[in-house]
Amino acid sequence: MVASTPASSTASSQARTTGITAGFVGAVGNTPLIRLNALSALTDCEILGKAEFMNPGGSVKDRAALGILLEAEEQGLLKPGGTVVEGTAGNTGIGLTHLCNARGYKALIVIPDTQSAEKIGLLRSLGAEVRTVPAVPYRDPNNYVRLSGRIAEETPGAVWANQFDNLANRRAHYSSTGPEIWQQTGGRVDAWVAATGTGGTYAGVALYLKEQNPAVRCVLADPHGSSLYSWATAGSLVSEGSSITEGIGNSRVTANLDGAPVDDAVRVADQAALDTIYDLLWQEGLFLGGSVGINVAAAVETARRMGPGHTIVTVLCDSGDRYRSRLYDGVWLAEKGLHQPVRPA
Ligand code: PMP
Repeated sequence: MVASTPASSTASSQARTTGITAGFVGAVGNTPLIRLNALSALTDCEILGKAEFMNPGGSVKDRAALGILLEAEEQGLLKPGGTVVEGTAGNTGIGLTHLCNARGYKALIVIPDTQSAEKIGLLRSLGAEVRTVPAVPYRDPNNYVRLSGRIAEETPGAVWANQFDNLANRRAHYSSTGPEIWQQTGGRVDAWVAATGTGGTYAGVALYLKEQNPAVRCVLADPHGSSLYSWATAGSLVSEGSSITEGIGNSRVTANLDGAPVDDAVRVADQAALDTIYDLLWQEGLFLGGSVGINVAAAVETARRMGPGHTIVTVLCDSGDRYRSRLYDGVWLAEKGLHQPVRPA
């Protein structure tokens, strides 16, 4: 059982009753649940995607950023003019920077230089102080997450968002994303499928849905290069290969993922994820990022494993706009040994 916290609930309920959102904060959450028509027809299941790219900061991480910030304020850790420091693959930093602007704080973001130029450029445009660092494993003290923790310690008036191990992250999903999915499906959800970066989205929703109905199947999706598929299926953290996806996969079980129910796991190759996001663009008109390809391909595989007639919910984490120079660029893809899908005639 995870304690429920207010997160965006007060602002959101005000929005529902008046039709007016209370600033940026009030606009976080309450995203549509989109039926993916072609894939639903293909599988004879209902494949539903939670449209997190429609959050005001453009990703699923707006919810976690808001939950973390509100808890830091409630605990008196963050004072007016203070600084929020975070190590991030981009989206949490983007959400935090919007929120810092809206609530009178500064944002200092540490990001691996392997992340897309669009995300790094956007962070700078939003006004964050951005430090790009080489991508090194977590065990290295200069890993972006560990470095961000040290910077927060050394900076007066700063708090470390610590999204990987701060449970405010999954509480935000437990108290908002999970209940929204339950309400939007009228409680008719058979499976929940998501890849994890911090694990906040996967775990928060999985814990909430299991409490409503223990029969909901919780399926962890994972790219190559991550150790979580082997952890979920064989109990040991072993990685294989690599992936061009950003923001997902991990070499360790974070505090946010720890204790979350995992009934099954699906590993998805980059080419399959790529084919999936191009299908979503051409068949559904949805322009989405790479982690969505992993999620939706895993949802389709889950539909195959469960059989026709099931309702399967996953997350549409962010927009393709954040990866135009990569996932939607044939030259970049070819350099990575991947094929840009060709639009059917
Ligand atoms: N997709 C994208 C594009 C992300 O940026 C993230 C967050 N790193 C995720 C998925 C995974 O979300 P979570 O951190 O809640 O596991």
